Amino acid sequence: MLLCIFSLTGCQQQIMQAQVRDSRIVVLDIGHYYHPQRGGQGARTPDKRFGNIEECEYWYRYVGYTARIIEQAGYQCRICCRGSMPTDKKLAEIAIREGVHHVNTPEPNAVYRSKHHPHRMAVGMLSTNYALDQKPAAVIYLHHNSMTNHWKVYNKGAIYCNDVGQQLGISVADVITRSIYDQGGMPNNGVPCDIILRNDGRRGGGDWLNACNESYVPAIITEATFLSNPEHARFLGKEANAIRYAEAIGHGVVHFLNAR
Ligand SMILES: [Zn+2]
Repeated sequence: MLLCIFSLTGCQQQIMQAQVRDSRIVVLDIGHYYHPQRGGQGARTPDKRFGNIEECEYWYRYVGYTARIIEQAGYQCRICCRGSMPTDKKLAEIAIREGVHHVNTPEPNAVYRSKHHPHRMAVGMLSTNYALDQKPAAVIYLHHNSMTNHWKVYNKGAIYCNDVGQQLGISVADVITRSIYDQGGMPNNGVPCDIILRNDGRRGGGDWLNACNESYVPAIITEATFLSNPEHARFLGKEANAIRYAEAIGHGVVHFLNAR
């Protein structure tokens, strides 16, 4: 306490860090957005041969399974998406049931400024503003990756994380390696799920992670699966596997939160 009197900045930092550590709220951000005519605007499988998946629509369908695992462990989830309520009836039904908060970004592909750390700017930043308003313990940006627009076996999936999110990244990557890849049923040639520290500005959500980092909030982007990899697409295309994958992320988050 005495230290605080002499170092206001250090004190503020400690208060913010303690707030994050004591928080029991997890924000799950459904990646990209749903366009009223064109549907989900994330990565998609090159064609329907090995599965017909688009990442934003996928996460509307399965985010609830991630949330349930986290909630069963005694934490709360807030689910958001940078877009607006999907015009697809089935997805809208799920969004209402799961209480998805739609940020209604006016121009979903435009760059926006962080409300909490104004030098941070990125497409999709408005959902990060919402996320940090929740005073969360962690923020999970739910995505899939895609290597090419044609089919290609590629195994270098990773969890991108911010500096304070490295343990969170390790926990989630570990569950994916052990329970999803290879023995878990999704062929990955024995390559484990990697963890990549991302702090390079706007690139690939870098400034979402940076904004969270400057609030001391662990944050990750899940890019462990490739919709352009026929083996990943075939696995995720089966409902039971899609649920298992969504749950695996939940287990990784819980493992991290319980170990804090
Ligand atoms: Zn994505």
